[in-house]
Amino acid sequence: MQTNASVLDAIGHTPLIKLRRASEETGCTILGKAEFMNPGGSVKDRAALAIVEDALQRGTLQPGGTIVEGTAGNTGIGLCLVASALGFKTVIVIPDTQSQEKKDMLRLSGAELIEVPAVPYSNPNNYVKVSARVAEHLGKTAPGGAIWANQFDNVANREGHRRTTGPEIWEQTEGAVDGFVCAVGTGGTLAGIGQALKERNSKIRIGLADPMGASLFNFYAHGELKSEGSSITEGIGQGRITANLEGAPVDHAYQIEDTEALDIVFDLAEHEGLLLGGSSGINVAGAMRLARELGPGHTIVTILCDSGARYQSKLFNPAFLKSKGLPVPAWLVRPPSVSL
Ligand code: PMP
Repeated sequence: MQTNASVLDAIGHTPLIKLRRASEETGCTILGKAEFMNPGGSVKDRAALAIVEDALQRGTLQPGGTIVEGTAGNTGIGLCLVASALGFKTVIVIPDTQSQEKKDMLRLSGAELIEVPAVPYSNPNNYVKVSARVAEHLGKTAPGGAIWANQFDNVANREGHRRTTGPEIWEQTEGAVDGFVCAVGTGGTLAGIGQALKERNSKIRIGLADPMGASLFNFYAHGELKSEGSSITEGIGQGRITANLEGAPVDHAYQIEDTEALDIVFDLAEHEGLLLGGSSGINVAGAMRLARELGPGHTIVTILCDSGARYQSKLFNPAFLKSKGLPVPAWLVRPPSVSL
C-alpha cells in the first residue's frame, strides 16, 4: 500500500496513446504523450515542478517564500499547485485581456493575481517584465523572499523534460522511436525531449510544428526569425530564441494552419475519445508531416499538451469558430437524433 504519495508524485509518468486514425492515414505508428493527465491538466506541470525544485536546490527559494511568474495559463496553474503542495505563495501577473475562466482557475489554484494592461513584449509594462519587477521587489520585502520563475529563459524548464519526459518516451517505446515533433511556447518541451532522445540515439529525428504567426518555422527552415499570418492556438507561437531553445536539435520544421490543426482536434474528439486543446492539434499535424516525410513503418511521438475543456468557449464554440472564419464540425451542432 502506498500511503505517502503527494500530488507532486502524480506529475509525469503519463501514458503514451496510439492515435489510430493518424497512424492509419500515414502508415506509421503515431503516439501521443497524454500530458493533459498531469494533476494541473497540462504539460506545464513538469516545467513548474522542475523550476521550483531547481530553486530549492540552489537555495534561492526559502521556506515561506513566494514564486512570481508572468503567465496567463498552464504554467501558472502548475506553479500554483506545486507551490501550494510545498507551502509557498504564488503571485501571478496576467494581462487583463485573458478570459475570466483562466483568472478564476488561477485564483482557485491559490494565486494572488495582478492584472496589467496587455502591451507588447518590447514595452516595459509587458506582463512578463512586470513579473520580473514584482519578483525583485518581493525578494527584498516579503517574508521568505521571492523568486521569478522566468519559464522562457530559465533552463531548469528544459532540464525537467530532459530528465523526465524524454526518458519516459524512450522507455515506453523501448527505444523504437524514430521521430519526435512538437510546437514551442518556451521551447522547454521540444529542446528537453529532443536532447534526451538524441543522447540515446542520435538518428532520432526532431521536428518543430509551428503555428501561423510564430517566427520559428522561418528560423529553422531559412535562418531568419520572421512570422506571417496568425493562429487562435494558445500557449505556443514564439518570436525569439529563448534560452530554453538555444542549441535545440531541430532537424525538421513544419508550418501548420489552424484549419489543419482543428480538423485533427475535432476528429480526435469525435472518433478517439480525446478532447484536446489547439496546440495538441498542431503537434499531431506536425507528427503526421514527419511520418509522411520518413515513410510508412516509422514510430513518431508527439505531445497531447492539455484538455479541450480549457477552451470550451473558443475551440468548441460554433459562434467563436464562425467569427474567425473557421469551419464548425458537424457533430458540434448536430440536433438530438431522438425527440419524444
Ligand atoms: N501547449 C500548451 C497548451 C501550452 O500551454 C504550452 C506552454 N506554454 C505549450 C504547448 C508549449 O510548451 P513549451 O513551453 O514547453 O514550449
